[in-house]
Amino acid sequence: MRVDIISIFPDYFTPLDLSLIGKARTSGLLDLVVHDLRTWTSDVHRTVDDTPYGGGPGMVMRPEPWSQALDAVGPGTLIVPSPVGKPFTQADAHELAAAEHLIFACGRYEGIDQRVIDDAAGRMPVREVSLGDYVLFGGEVAVIVIMEAVTRLLPGVLGNADSLTEESHAAGLLEAPVYTKPASWRGRDVPEILRSGDHGRIARWRRDQSLLRTAERRPDMFAAYPPAQLDRADRRA
Ligand code: SAM
Repeated sequence: MRVDIISIFPDYFTPLDLSLIGKARTSGLLDLVVHDLRTWTSDVHRTVDDTPYGGGPGMVMRPEPWSQALDAVGPGTLIVPSPVGKPFTQADAHELAAAEHLIFACGRYEGIDQRVIDDAAGRMPVREVSLGDYVLFGGEVAVIVIMEAVTRLLPGVLGNADSLTEESHAAGLLEAPVYTKPASWRGRDVPEILRSGDHGRIARWRRDQSLLRTAERRPDMFAAYPPAQLDRADRRA
């Protein structure tokens, strides 16, 4: 997968050299380039912002550097992190993981002039994506989050691909609690069933815990879970 990230703070992305994303880059699974938006400015101050039309606080990112940047790296699927975007989900991560080329436009200040997004939409798929109902300083952290979610879905990135099917949000539920050694720690014991070696009972326990957790912590997700996917034992519980 090819990924271009455009930002006025390219240094924000040093974490993308680390861990499994770093490995995916060295192995060639991920071809990721970070660009400084100011490369596409033409004045001595390398200006990327100006005052908002209509007044109001803050500054808005000017269209010219953005359009030149997008012309230089595009076309591809353009992701614009924004608090007014569609909330990002695991389903979105799967869709983006299937794309050949992602371009991320990191806004700052009061955001990017809307015409940049409208204009790009005439040439490539554009998604405005929100990380949640709060406001960040800029799109950089959002891009790192999205890249983590997407990269781990790329074939060959995770050592054990089963991790992807047995985790939270893989099938509309939250994962059951997990434990490791020692069996007893600070007076707290690992549930006996997980040490029983009985794979059928363990699977049933995990399923029950997963349903219980989802119902308690995410009633919205539980309500949306298709009844057809409940098995007989689920219904009894
Ligand atoms: N004035 C904008 C508003 O009220 O919708 C907020 C701009 S915010 C200070 C600057 C940039 O941070 C945005 O352009 C976007 O790139 C990023 N950002 C802020 N909150 C975000 C969120 N919840 N999800 C994704 N990106 C966000």
